[in-house]
Amino acid sequence: MAMVKIKAKVKTKMAKIIDGKAISKAEREKIAKEAEELKNSGILPGLAVIIVGDDPASAVYVRNKERACEEAGIYSEVIRMPENASEEEIIANIEALNANGKIHGILVQLPLPKGLDETKILSHIKASKDVDAFLPENVGLLSLGRPDMLPCTPAGVMTLLAESGIDVCGKECVVVGRSNIVGKPMAMLLLLQNGTVTVCHSKTKNIADITRRADILVCAVGKPKFITADMVKSGACVIDVGINRGDDGKLCGDVDFENVKEIAGYITPVPGGVGPMTITSLLKNTVKSAKNSQK
Ligand code: NAP
Repeated sequence: MAMVKIKAKVKTKMAKIIDGKAISKAEREKIAKEAEELKNSGILPGLAVIIVGDDPASAVYVRNKERACEEAGIYSEVIRMPENASEEEIIANIEALNANGKIHGILVQLPLPKGLDETKILSHIKASKDVDAFLPENVGLLSLGRPDMLPCTPAGVMTLLAESGIDVCGKECVVVGRSNIVGKPMAMLLLLQNGTVTVCHSKTKNIADITRRADILVCAVGKPKFITADMVKSGACVIDVGINRGDDGKLCGDVDFENVKEIAGYITPVPGGVGPMTITSLLKNTVKSAKNSQK
């Protein structure tokens, strides 16, 4: 009797999309309430942004920050400086903001025009007003496991995980990218929540073997479709930090979203995933700094 081969139909379950816009909106409502309470107790949280030059992308980011502050009831000031501003002039503005009681957070919009020493300039921001958490003092506190200001984008990722009910404790976490702004502090925050963390970078060998182990995979590389479906474990939580322009001119992340969403358990879209959380963390840090100033 002829054998009939029956092809098993594999049922694929699509990943749950983590809605960064909705989570960010809810977080910003909480922040606005806290800002209102602080205002009623006599302290209006204030953020100052210094922007040097006329990079159009930076101008958009700064406008978004201004708008977000306004919506949250946070006072904001933008100091616009010309492309040819000197290091001394920028530092003088930072020093004035350090001494300004209305300002609790200072941010220098990066990148600065070529020729300016970013590290030197940022080092003049008072650590208590370092709402980007870039300064050695804040980086040091984080690595000692007792952070004060949390680095904005990684803190936003942690909020997305928490709000999605994803417990990091004991999970295999893989972070791709080791920048000072995203990768390294991301690894620190996951470690703080007892994840088992591996960090990959451009010299990592057999990267797919490592990413396939991840229960939580965070990618911050800056290359479209860097993470493909064959690099992801079934059911994993995939967080896409990347912001790139695809060949079609549209914004996209580092993850091949369409194919990875068929494998993953959770996934963040780009746009609308991690992006909105970064400014939300900035607002949170500004309010925290204003609260700290009461002590
Ligand atoms: P970055 O400073 O350029 O760092 C990129 C990292 O990726 C580096 O550590 C690099 O390794 C690693 N990398 C590059 N090629 C690799 C490869 N083939 N295999 C493995 N690792 C590789 O970038 P970033 O500032 O961290 O930003 C990363 C992405 O996130 C960008 O798209 C950026 O626009 C985006 N971003 C988004 C937000 C947000 O709010 N959503 C915030 C910040 C950044 P090496 O160290 O070995 O060079």
